Amino acid sequence: MKLGIVGLPNVGKSTLFNSLTKAGAESANYPFCTIDPNVGVVAVPDERIKKLGELYHTKKVTPAVIEFVDIAGLVKGASHGEGLGNQFLANIREVDAIVHVVRCFEDANVVHVDGSIDPGRDIETINLELIFSDVEILERRIAKVAKQARMDKTLAKELEMLEALKAHLEEGKMARTFEVPEDEDLQKAYKEYNLLTGKKTIYAANVAEDDLANDGADNANVAAVRKIASSEGSEVFVICAQIEQEISELDDDEKAMFLEDLGLSESGLDKLIKASYKLLGLISFLTAGEDECRAWTIKEGTKAPQAAGKIHTDFERGFIKAEVVNYQDLLDNGSLAAAREKGIVGMEGKDYVVKDGDVILFRFNV
Ligand code: GDP
Repeated sequence: MKLGIVGLPNVGKSTLFNSLTKAGAESANYPFCTIDPNVGVVAVPDERIKKLGELYHTKKVTPAVIEFVDIAGLVKGASHGEGLGNQFLANIREVDAIVHVVRCFEDANVVHVDGSIDPGRDIETINLELIFSDVEILERRIAKVAKQARMDKTLAKELEMLEALKAHLEEGKMARTFEVPEDEDLQKAYKEYNLLTGKKTIYAANVAEDDLANDGADNANVAAVRKIASSEGSEVFVICAQIEQEISELDDDEKAMFLEDLGLSESGLDKLIKASYKLLGLISFLTAGEDECRAWTIKEGTKAPQAAGKIHTDFERGFIKAEVVNYQDLLDNGSLAAAREKGIVGMEGKDYVVKDGDVILFRFNV
């Protein structure tokens, strides 16, 4: 699962990307960290595995990870092939969700491509390029389906949806605010279009250091971002990319002190990573032991055998039962044995839907 970082030039994308990958590289030694200079594997901050690690005196703590892709070069005219526009748009099509960085900081030394700080205009510039690209996809699809629909009457409903969707985009609206009819075929077809403006999006408002403490409340630029985001049901995170880059160079203790000085309990970057994970519809179940405490990534709604399969295919094939205890309950009781005695450890079967924060011990046949 990948998130693409998009935004106009000089808004702080690379700075954000660098701090993300730096933070990831330090907290987890992933050998696949540097597959590509524009792709970073980032550890999802998780207090729970750290605390489990202490409880179990574990040798190793392994967080869940997600990938971020730095998609630079999106400019006005990209959808018409301006610059390497089409290539960048193709890169965005491959990601599962988007982090849209918006410049909300003033700095005369950092040139703005359009000469002034105006988040509303900037967001519109980017979103219009995405819309143009989507409309092109829809037009191609409409031509194809219209031809087929002459022979196959069942396609009439798709054609109707395509036209409605195109009209929706042409009003300047994002596909993610389009209501796809409750029809299995149409839902499937819509997914296949893989529209850029249909991807879930987080707006990252990049502010000056001074605006961090009160979450950008006094910053009119941030307010403008919030207004646009709320009109389409997207979330906004206030970050200062420059500070994050400085923080990413610190060790854990120094970082805690630094944040305290800024009046923050958590870095904006950590919040953003967690929110990105959630945006992708991902949750973590945990495993705990003396060798390793680990967070495993699953899609929300995954059942126990498939969750077991994330660890090893044999676990899924030979699945018998899952012994499940909530992370906090385990911690409160001090050990799995104590939790078992209390009767709060569940023996779950193959239909059990795994929850975020479940600590699981799988029982399986080999
Ligand atoms: P990109 O083109 O969107 O990737 O932007 P960069 O990350 O390369 O940033 C462009 C310039 O803005 C660099 O000189 C950064 O140091 C600077 N910059 C990035 N974030 C901030 C910030 O939060 N505050 C200030 N003052 N400058 C920043």
